Amino acid sequence: MTMTQRPVTAGRRRLGRARRWYATAAATEERMTEDGIVLWPTSVAHAKEAGTTHTACGLWTYSWRTMMDLPFPLRRGRTQAAMCPACLLLVKEGGR
Ligand SMILES: [Zn+2]
Repeated sequence: MTMTQRPVTAGRRRLGRARRWYATAAATEERMTEDGIVLWPTSVAHAKEAGTTHTACGLWTYSWRTMMDLPFPLRRGRTQAAMCPACLLLVKEGGR
């Protein structure tokens, strides 16, 4: 096994810390599932870390709800919500 150095990308804050991303959206609804009532995005889903005020792509989420039961990116088939392409790219690049 070899150690590879990766370039530090802009926006990456604390190296070595695993980042956890959750889905957030401007519009949500509650749905009944076999796990109970859960919050689902009904508008484009973005990625957001708990305790922050902005999405990965930089949108302010003051009035949005974060779905702590829905890790970002959303698994295909679980929801019909579209995912923000910028958030997808940022999470894949820097959110290991
Ligand atoms: Zn986004």
